[in-house]
Amino acid sequence: MKKEILVVGGGFAGLWAALAGARELLLGGRQPDVAMISPDGFLTMRPRLYESNPEKLRVPIEPVLNALEVELISARVQTVDPAKQSLSIDIQGKGTRDIGYAALVLAAGSELQVPAIPGADKYSFNIDTYAAAVSLDRHLCSIMQSPHKAGHQTILVVGAGITGVELATEMRGRLRQYANAETVDKVRIILVQRSASLVRALGENVVPIVTDALQQADVELVLAESLRSIEADSVTFSNGQRIACCTTIATTGLRANSLAASLGAETDRYGRLAVDEMLRVQGLSDIFAAGDIARAFADGAQLALMSCQHAMKMGKFAGYNAARQLLGLSQAPYFQPDYVTCIDLGDSGAVFTSGWDRQVQMTGCEAKSRKRTINTQWIYPPRTDRAALLAAADIHASHR
Ligand SMILES: Cc1cc2nc3c(=O)[nH]c(=O)nc-3n(C[C@H](O)[C@H](O)[C@H](O)COP(=O)(O)OP(=O)(O)OC[C@H]3O[C@@H](n4cnc5c(N)ncnc54)[C@H](O)[C@@H]3O)c2cc1C
Repeated sequence: MKKEILVVGGGFAGLWAALAGARELLLGGRQPDVAMISPDGFLTMRPRLYESNPEKLRVPIEPVLNALEVELISARVQTVDPAKQSLSIDIQGKGTRDIGYAALVLAAGSELQVPAIPGADKYSFNIDTYAAAVSLDRHLCSIMQSPHKAGHQTILVVGAGITGVELATEMRGRLRQYANAETVDKVRIILVQRSASLVRALGENVVPIVTDALQQADVELVLAESLRSIEADSVTFSNGQRIACCTTIATTGLRANSLAASLGAETDRYGRLAVDEMLRVQGLSDIFAAGDIARAFADGAQLALMSCQHAMKMGKFAGYNAARQLLGLSQAPYFQPDYVTCIDLGDSGAVFTSGWDRQVQMTGCEAKSRKRTINTQWIYPPRTDRAALLAAADIHASHR
């Protein structure tokens, strides 16, 4: 079996790469011969996994793909053979099989960098994947059923980047789903950060607003500290202090999917593949990379971040360029100068910034309303409406 365009990964980059690739082939008068390989067939709303009810935070991807005649192959890619233009895939329960491609878009995303702390791999929770977020949610429910047991009243979040801050400030609200206010008020929520300040992770303009929100949410911020070890029912800090705690959640940053390293091409310290301005992997002209797995310049000076907003746009450019390369047409350099962030701050609202230096544009309820719009509308694909999908898959279309 061989496909004109094969897309690996059903996340934000993969979805938009497949749709944009199909769109260009259609516009070029060709029947799209595009397939996406995804292990579970869902688009997981990873940016929302700090929220309650994670079971609701993924959408089936096949109807969206089918609206533009893209095939979904439910499988996991095991290896890529660039010389043979072929992939080996593992089809759940049906063994392995090879698929060829004329152009490949690698969009297999990223995974949590589990901290190198003894016990972290075994005893820490995370919100990196749908399964992990659901598992944490069930655990939160269960500890609130027996709040007096040792370690049930302390929740430790490791890593005070955007995800750690969102999870910590949202936590008390989440616990209120499972226990009364009196019980929840007694829970200690601790946010630990290795560095002495939050400025590097969040930007100096945002730090005072975040610090205030953490106080409002009764989250203890512990700076310049890390963990020595994690057990099932306790943690020990680097300073030797040991506390009872059976909920340690790692929000310690992302690393590119290991498929990147398997290509033998240049990667950076996050494991991301170096790509040229057309998002072609350096030295492999028929392989494009997009999203968290790619190291690309967003505007000539700033590198795109491992973020949803960059993944969606990169995905479109990668799919567009892959199709245009097959059609023998000119390609478009990836360019995305606008950068915004919107950090949820629980009951304190949110903070919305624009620019790489994160200039604060909105706070409180106004920013919270923007966050809701982003989380419930902008990052979702238009359902299965072909015309809406064709319009949205244009590289110039905005998701706002
Ligand atoms: C908790 C959390 C909060 C976040 N908050 C924000 C935020 O507020 N704003 C923001 O912009 N970004 C946020 N992000 C980052 C954002 O989610 C990612 O940058 C984005 O998901 C990257 O999209 P992607 O398509 O590159 O990868 P992913 O969304 O990770 O998708 C990768 C896809 O590849 C598939 N895959 C993996 N391995 C294989 C394989 N071997 N074979 C086939 N398929 C494979 C996966 O199943 C998945 O479908 C957050 C991330 C997390 C985890």
